[in-house]
Amino acid sequence: MSDQPLTPKERMAIGRTTMPEQDPAKRATNFEEVNFGLSYEAAVQEAKRCLVCKSRSCVEGCPVAVRIPEFLEALASGDVAGAAEILRVDNALPATTGRVCPQEVQCEKVCVRGKKGDPVAIGWLERFVADWAAENMANPVAPDKQTGRTVAVVGSGPAGLTAAGELARMGHSVTVFEALHDSGGVLRYGIPEFRLPKKIVDAEVACLESLGVKLEFNVIVGRTITVTQITEEFDACFIANGAGLPMFLNVPGEQLKGVYSSNEYLTRVNLMGAYKPESTTPIARGDNVVVFGGGNTAMDSVRTAKRLGAKRAIIAYRRSREEMPARIEEVHHAEEEGIEFMLLMSPLEINGGEDGWVKSIRLQKMELGEPDASGRRRPVPIEGSEFELEAQVAVVAIGTRANPILSSACPDLKLNKWGNIEIDDNQMTSIPGVFAGGDIVRGGATVILAMGDGKHAANAIDRYLQSK
Ligand SMILES: Cc1cc2nc3c(=O)[nH]c(=O)nc-3n(C[C@H](O)[C@H](O)[C@H](O)COP(=O)(O)OP(=O)(O)OC[C@H]3O[C@@H](n4cnc5c(N)ncnc54)[C@H](O)[C@@H]3O)c2cc1C
Repeated sequence: MSDQPLTPKERMAIGRTTMPEQDPAKRATNFEEVNFGLSYEAAVQEAKRCLVCKSRSCVEGCPVAVRIPEFLEALASGDVAGAAEILRVDNALPATTGRVCPQEVQCEKVCVRGKKGDPVAIGWLERFVADWAAENMANPVAPDKQTGRTVAVVGSGPAGLTAAGELARMGHSVTVFEALHDSGGVLRYGIPEFRLPKKIVDAEVACLESLGVKLEFNVIVGRTITVTQITEEFDACFIANGAGLPMFLNVPGEQLKGVYSSNEYLTRVNLMGAYKPESTTPIARGDNVVVFGGGNTAMDSVRTAKRLGAKRAIIAYRRSREEMPARIEEVHHAEEEGIEFMLLMSPLEINGGEDGWVKSIRLQKMELGEPDASGRRRPVPIEGSEFELEAQVAVVAIGTRANPILSSACPDLKLNKWGNIEIDDNQMTSIPGVFAGGDIVRGGATVILAMGDGKHAANAIDRYLQSK
């Protein structure tokens, strides 16, 4: 093809690329990343599929409003560095979102090319450009002009990191207080290595540190220090402590050995490296592992169980495939890896042996009734359909709630009935100068929505600081 810009017809003639990935049988036995990423040639060709349409619906479909047509045009012309500059300004964690965003319900869903065929593979291109930048470009640096204002951020998940990066770019002095010994929140302890390698999280955090963001680990706000102490010491505060308190099934037997919340199961494996032979963190393994739930957390848990050696790694989900909230790619990858899906299935009881370990699970089949408050069809038990399934490990992945540690030490912080922090249109809480965002406000949501909150809050904090 010539160097002339392609006509829309020529762009339309290019078919969507495919993502090279590890063979399913092989990858089900290791923790290496499933997707290899696109080559330069494939990425440039895919970027040429963008019609650079006037509607820019993809930008509206992105919660952090990445200038997608601009970065794709730069890439299509072979200017990867130019594409990376655009991405880095708009998105604090592009290598992460390129891997974990549910693009099929966001930017790619509204891509005009998707109306007559496949949308542009925006997520894969974002990943390509971000990985290229990490290898070939210097990290961004702190602006010369500093404002002298100080902001504390609670939690180093995607919401906290995004706010921290944005605020540092504006010249504010930012300190992130993190309860754990490492950064990233769910990106580090929840999402497994085979989906999001931790070296990617390290590189993205290093970019923020080079912008001047300071990280303080092992600080539990609400215990080690309080929000009140923070407000006395800092000019503003952004609370982004996530929703890390696991929910349980409330069925008999949940206290047995071998039953985990998905949080604990994944934290042991991802944060503490329990899958590595040299790790001192124990993790229960078994021939049959049953994971309850149908979201990303359930998929991550069941695929982890498979990699830890389970012969049968089973998803037990009480609704049907259509209602499963997990990303389509994760469900597809799980199926390829031999994960069993027991749909329309609900646990009644977990049974243990004399040794106190899980031995079997009593399950009941369900059918779908009328929609419930969530809009999804309600699962209704089928009488007489109960049966026993042999299992050695059970993982409960049915959602999380707000952890009350921070809020219980801060009575002035207004919460809603679920324990999530209430905010105004500027993401300010009931305490002046204290803002909040991410899962602690929304309940369990997505990485990019948390990042959108971080970005929005950073702008509001900047306005607040200027008004003081
Ligand atoms: C296993 C799993 C897989 C997921 N997969 C996807 C996916 O593929 N795509 C997607 O878009 N979303 C996914 N999600 C959802 C997404 O990860 C979350 O919505 C997102 O991480 C929320 O970001 P956050 O910054 O609000 O909170 P978090 O990521 O939860 O970060 C909160 C941070 O605050 C820290 N903290 C908590 N309490 C305190 C305290 N008192 N003091 C100091 N620090 C504290 C925590 O240790 C943590 O580091 C997944 C979630 C899970 C659990």
